[in-house]
Amino acid sequence: MKLILLGAPGAGKGTQAAFIKAALKVPVISTGNLLREAIAQGNALGIQAKQYVDKGQLVPDDLMIDLVQERLQSNDCAQGAVLDGFPRTVAQAQALEDFCHVDAALSIEVSDETIVRRMAGRRTCPQCHATYHVEDNPPKVPGICDKCGEKLGVRHDDDPQVVLQRLKVYHQQTEPVKQYYADLGKLRSVEGVGPVEEIRRRIFKALELPL
Ligand code: AMP
Repeated sequence: MKLILLGAPGAGKGTQAAFIKAALKVPVISTGNLLREAIAQGNALGIQAKQYVDKGQLVPDDLMIDLVQERLQSNDCAQGAVLDGFPRTVAQAQALEDFCHVDAALSIEVSDETIVRRMAGRRTCPQCHATYHVEDNPPKVPGICDKCGEKLGVRHDDDPQVVLQRLKVYHQQTEPVKQYYADLGKLRSVEGVGPVEEIRRRIFKALELPL
């Protein structure tokens, strides 16, 4: 099963992707994580992507399409994958449809006000990419990742000014992707506000996965 997760930055795509991954036993392909890894390595993709990521802008479509196409060809994607953060433009969605059959696109709906509040308290593990919130979902030991023990940090692009820019980009360039999948009859939407477990149940119901 190939699934797309749509939603504004901070809507909870990464958190929910982990639940779907465990249920379907397929990998999560997070383009944001792939880009952050490339930037940390300083490879050719990372050098090109950094200027866009740091400003909260989208990395050009051709780079992203090549990256995802290559990743989807890996053996571990033979049974499916959850795509988190791709496609983010209609051009990316069209390209994806040409090289891969998408079963469903799930949109996690959260208001801009909630996003801004969430992002201000978001803490991320640079090692395993687990995310926390200082109030809503704190780690057991403040500042330390529960999963791998690494020191948590604030993502450079979670800076409030960059978050506002990312929301603007989301509304302008990524929201039309919802209509693209609605027209194909593949869009499901859920409210992304409330306890994480409740949202998980809404999503599993929408995707007809065993609760
Ligand atoms: P994310 O972790 O998904 O919020 O992504 C972080 C940043 O990576 C975004 O703000 C973009 O700069 C870049 N990015 C991630 N996925 C894409 C994509 N599909 N197309 C263009 N840029 C992307």
